[in-house]
Amino acid sequence: MYKSKAYSAASATSPLAVSTIPRRDLTERDVQIKILFCGICHSDLHAVRDEWNEFMPTVYPIVPGHEIVGEVTNVGSAVTKHKPGDLVGVGCLVDADLTCHECKADLEQFCPNRILTYNDPDKHLGGVLYGGYSESIVVDEHFALRIPANLDPAGVAPLLCAGITTYSPLHHWGVTKGKKVGVVGLGGLGHMGVKIAHALGAHVAVFTTSPGKKEDALRLGADEVIMSRDAGEMQKHEGTFDFILDTASAQHDINSYLSLLARDGNLTLVGAPPEGLHVKPFSLIGGRHSLSGSAVGGIRETQEMLDFCGEHNLTADVEVIPIQKVNEAFDRLARADVKYRFSIDMASLEAD
Ligand code: NAP
Ligand code: ZN
Repeated sequence: MYKSKAYSAASATSPLAVSTIPRRDLTERDVQIKILFCGICHSDLHAVRDEWNEFMPTVYPIVPGHEIVGEVTNVGSAVTKHKPGDLVGVGCLVDADLTCHECKADLEQFCPNRILTYNDPDKHLGGVLYGGYSESIVVDEHFALRIPANLDPAGVAPLLCAGITTYSPLHHWGVTKGKKVGVVGLGGLGHMGVKIAHALGAHVAVFTTSPGKKEDALRLGADEVIMSRDAGEMQKHEGTFDFILDTASAQHDINSYLSLLARDGNLTLVGAPPEGLHVKPFSLIGGRHSLSGSAVGGIRETQEMLDFCGEHNLTADVEVIPIQKVNEAFDRLARADVKYRFSIDMASLEAD
């Protein structure tokens, strides 16, 4: 066991502050990573503030962070995938049994024994695991991804969650050229959804509650922008969408989007507001619409997404911040005031 500097919260109402956490010594399958950048996902905010208490209560202290990019500093004796000096990424998953039918289908995110990057049990040291708002991390080599050399590391970090969480359902639901796709919410996930759907050749519409984001949405690759609080504007699109990806992080009327689906259209929820969403049966019945969910993506698909982003030169639009500004960033994220992802420059941790 060794010590690593990190930012942690002591309770749902405490700010994040510098602290020291334990990290395990390398086992033979592990890689040790010096963290360069870590994105701030809205899930970090939900978890730190214990907003998902009903489903996954937060254990304190918590160190969030699952959009990690860093340099390999050391590897265990059996590691073959990575070597010291490699640039790698770690997302939401750090362990799974790799033997069950989900793992065999490259869907580790659904493995009954999967372990998330933070707030899940640490089977090596006891207690819970700590995330990426930290100097370094140790993970099994399977869960460390190769980062394309042409991409800027600060903008790559968010791909490890926001990138894969949008890429996976876009693929699963067959989004290609000629499909009309909607993206609800232009935040961290939403702006990656727009970039990826555009790169796949789809016609992309953004639904936003923020009139000030219209120009950005078009610049990011949207073909049109719809003000979701304007009922008249929404109505014009009734029955026309093949697929809608809903990334909204707070309570909203899902029926107003379901009614915009074409026959057999699907709306996939990736946004995880703690409150329930009220579905009216007639929003689904009329056009044989379906409503589904999606959770990040497996390791193979995450690598595929990174390689796709490398080929298309796609990264997140980031505001790089020193870790000392993390609490301010959380407050701004809660107000949907970020263009479009905060990425923490972990070198700033040396100043604490
Ligand atoms: P984010 O950057 O804060 O973006 C969320 C966006 O939702 C906001 O920018 C805003 O866009 C929109 N929004 C906020 N409040 C709204 C409201 N009341 N009604 C309608 N729209 C609203 O968050 P994120 O990091 O992209 O994460 C989004 C959600 O996905 C979170 O709940 C997060 O926990 C979840 N998530 C899920 C997975 C998964 O595997 N399923 C993975 C990562 C994150 P506009 O200003 O454009 O309206
Ligand atoms: Zn996330």
